[in-house]
Amino acid sequence: MQKIRVAVIGYGHLGRFHAQKVDALEASELVAIVDANIDRAKLAQEAHPHAKVVNNLKDIINEIDAAIIVTPTSTHFEIAKYLVEQKKHVFCEKPITEKEVQALELVALVEKQAMVFQAGHSERFHEIFERVDDFKDYFSVPSIIRLERIAAFKGRATDVDVVQDLMIHDLDLISFLFRETPVAIEAKGFKIRTSKWDHVTAILDFASGKKAFVTVGRNFVKEVRSLEVTSARGTFFVDLMKNEVLVASKEANQVDEYVKVFSYNKRDHLLIEQDYFYKSIANRTPPIVSAKDGQKAIRLLDFVIKSLESGHKENVR
Ligand code: NAD
Repeated sequence: MQKIRVAVIGYGHLGRFHAQKVDALEASELVAIVDANIDRAKLAQEAHPHAKVVNNLKDIINEIDAAIIVTPTSTHFEIAKYLVEQKKHVFCEKPITEKEVQALELVALVEKQAMVFQAGHSERFHEIFERVDDFKDYFSVPSIIRLERIAAFKGRATDVDVVQDLMIHDLDLISFLFRETPVAIEAKGFKIRTSKWDHVTAILDFASGKKAFVTVGRNFVKEVRSLEVTSARGTFFVDLMKNEVLVASKEANQVDEYVKVFSYNKRDHLLIEQDYFYKSIANRTPPIVSAKDGQKAIRLLDFVIKSLESGHKENVR
């Protein structure tokens, strides 16, 4: 089988891990790395002597079948659009674009060119989300979902706010788990460390009566990544750091067995994402997380920002 010839675009914090995965997988060959920064390009060449390392994507465009975009979010649209126009398959880190209008343009272009475009919503690849149907009773109507993704300040990703950097994962997870679009969003936030939103809570109302509370932050006193769903069936809680599920169902009435705890395997999400990407290309099947999924998450993100700026609850139209 011929390997898929891949370029990694952006060899920064995450790009270097993506490059390792391209090397590790059987289906792919790392033929090029593109980074606009000369020092980063030097590091890339040292780590991957067999790859062609360049500063400009146009220099290697005819040598690749697919590309992985791991540059800052503000550059995604221009790079992705060029690649799809050139009939290349694209894996693009989240958020796939800065603005929804750009994401909509990409969705249409991907369809027209018939290319595979996968969005890098890596949190979807927790093993528990493959088994979530086992717990679907907890998502009955009405139910409340609570997501937290908070940590101490690390000084990274300060070119964007925490809604773009962190909440995008949760907005995608809510759409995936609830399979419903909210009718209204209300958000409150604080700019603590930077000139951008550093801590934000958003409340999403759904027509069915479901509700979601999402908190993300980069100036917190502890590190938490969790998801909790409560309905008349009981509570289903996932610790996304420990990879642990805690369930308090209405049937468990004895105090000593009230909460059941399950563990699930920790997995290499980047490796799994790339594996799915190459399988979609080889088998011509739809990507596991599509450009449309990426666009839907950006749409919700825009309403969160709108509410933060207006100070009001915003109707999602
Ligand atoms: P980074 O700043 O560490 O790296 C970005 C790299 O891109 C730098 O080396 C920079 O020189 C290079 N670059 C900038 N513009 C370029 C251009 N036009 N052409 C080629 N190279 C260019 O950023 P990062 O933390 O690696 O984040 C990159 C992307 O990955 C962001 O969109 C971010 O949201 C996403 N990300 C996703 C996750 C996740 O959980 N899925 C985690 C971290 C970052």
